Amino acid sequence: MKGLVFDIKRFAIHDGSGIRVTVFLKGCPLSCWWCHNPESRSPEIETMVRDQKVNGKVFHTREQIGKWMTPAEVMDEIERERVFMEESGGGVTFSGGEPLMQHKFMEEILEMCKVNFFHTALDTTGFTSREVLKSIMDKVDVFLYDIKHLDDKEHKNYTGVSNKKILDNLKFLHDNNKHIIVRFPIIPGINDDEEHIERLNDYIKKELPGIKEVDILPYHNIAEHKYEKLKMPYLMSGNRKPDALNIKSIQQKFENSGFLVKTGG
Ligand code: SF4
Repeated sequence: MKGLVFDIKRFAIHDGSGIRVTVFLKGCPLSCWWCHNPESRSPEIETMVRDQKVNGKVFHTREQIGKWMTPAEVMDEIERERVFMEESGGGVTFSGGEPLMQHKFMEEILEMCKVNFFHTALDTTGFTSREVLKSIMDKVDVFLYDIKHLDDKEHKNYTGVSNKKILDNLKFLHDNNKHIIVRFPIIPGINDDEEHIERLNDYIKKELPGIKEVDILPYHNIAEHKYEKLKMPYLMSGNRKPDALNIKSIQQKFENSGFLVKTGG
């Protein structure tokens, strides 16, 4: 069993506790307007043209996005950073894309992480079947679980899929006492209005009382150039960055409700 991996990032500090190795898997069932990893979305190997300037001349090079790797090969990469992970209370984070699109690979590698005493985090959209969720949920130490929009119509509009399955799966994990950190991307003009923030705050408090941590991820446009290189339309063009004061006030709202809040990533 091989997995299609498009990046392995060392010394990651925004994807869970301590210093981590983040393994990015290719393929995502969503198509969020603000996606900053557009190269993660296709479940196939792609090529991206890169411009390199040497002595004033621009050269075009083709870069392959994605590489088939066995769990053992990925584990070799992770193992190299064991000292940093152990000393910082870190571990391994699986991200994407949506790692659960390759759930058989995930089952195998999560099992290997357990055997080798690596703490694991799964950064997930939650858009998967209940069977898949059940097959991996006892192998994951912490779920980094995205809530992008509570209104189903808005969710469909901006991500291409309904939020129903996502919210049902979140409740299922919560009711099974899994450690979950909710991740909320702040997207200006899409989900950062006061009414939606209030609704989200209330929803977590009332429906998911076991959740104590919220990560706030302010939108940034640093991925815009990738869209051009992948010949994909960038739907966020012209949207401004979230206002610092609004970020602060969103953070404050969650903190006032007793959540431990981390901003950035
Ligand atoms: S879920 Fe994440 S990887 Fe998938 S399209 Fe949305 S932002 Fe991109």
